[in-house]
Amino acid sequence: MSRPTISEIRPHIRDYTELTSLEVELAKDRNSLLVLPVGACEQHGDGLPLGTDNIRAAHVARAVVDRLRDSANGDQVRAASAFVLPGIDYGVSPHHRFLPGTINIGPRLFIDLVSSIVRQLADAGFDRLLVITGHGGNLAALGVIQQSLLATHPDFVFAYAPVSALATEATAQLPRTEVSGHCGESETSQMLAIDESLVDSGHLNPGATRLDDLDPRARLSRTKSPSTAVTFDRYSDNGVLGDPRTATAAAGEDILGEVIDRLVAYCQELQRL
Ligand SMILES: [Zn+2]
Repeated sequence: MSRPTISEIRPHIRDYTELTSLEVELAKDRNSLLVLPVGACEQHGDGLPLGTDNIRAAHVARAVVDRLRDSANGDQVRAASAFVLPGIDYGVSPHHRFLPGTINIGPRLFIDLVSSIVRQLADAGFDRLLVITGHGGNLAALGVIQQSLLATHPDFVFAYAPVSALATEATAQLPRTEVSGHCGESETSQMLAIDESLVDSGHLNPGATRLDDLDPRARLSRTKSPSTAVTFDRYSDNGVLGDPRTATAAAGEDILGEVIDRLVAYCQELQRL
């Protein structure tokens, strides 16, 4: 069976799913970078939507690919060598099941799902991929996938990154309570920056804010190392860590801007490999 060949990918195509079969061959031959946004469907307090982590991951993935293309300076081949994969909007959320809305797929299914996608892409000839996770609960599973791929596909470059945690400078500027994190100042600011209409501002209420208010086991879990985990009902009734009332869209733009800058710089290195 003879297949036609093409020499260009239509320049406006930025999503993997918008490529044709002919274009995907070319994308693979050009060592294109694939960006996979992943998140979670889970409680985000009373003021943020369940898909907060997906929305932020998809926003960052799109912005990174757009910036990589804009920075290609008219180089058509480089410009058309980064694509956003369809995201995974479910994640590892056993700690958030105490409030309505959470759909937890657990670490095993998450690992199988992401591994299956990545292995098929690797076997098809792609060789580099960045996962952007809006949900910190996915990070341990992503580490397992990375290690497993080293055994089966050692030449495949599998990178993964969180969102909020990359913005160290902008986060340092943020007024944050002693306990802060899920649905807190940073995450709420990011959502205000991305789409204010998705935030129910009248229900942005503080959750756990002070270490001394936490029960001993919950307090211990805030120590990074050694690591323990607790379900979030041990932190607060509304699932919030921090005080989202101080969140602003301007702070969210700074946070997202720093995250995107860092990832673009990293991806440019990835593209040069
Ligand atoms: Zn979140």
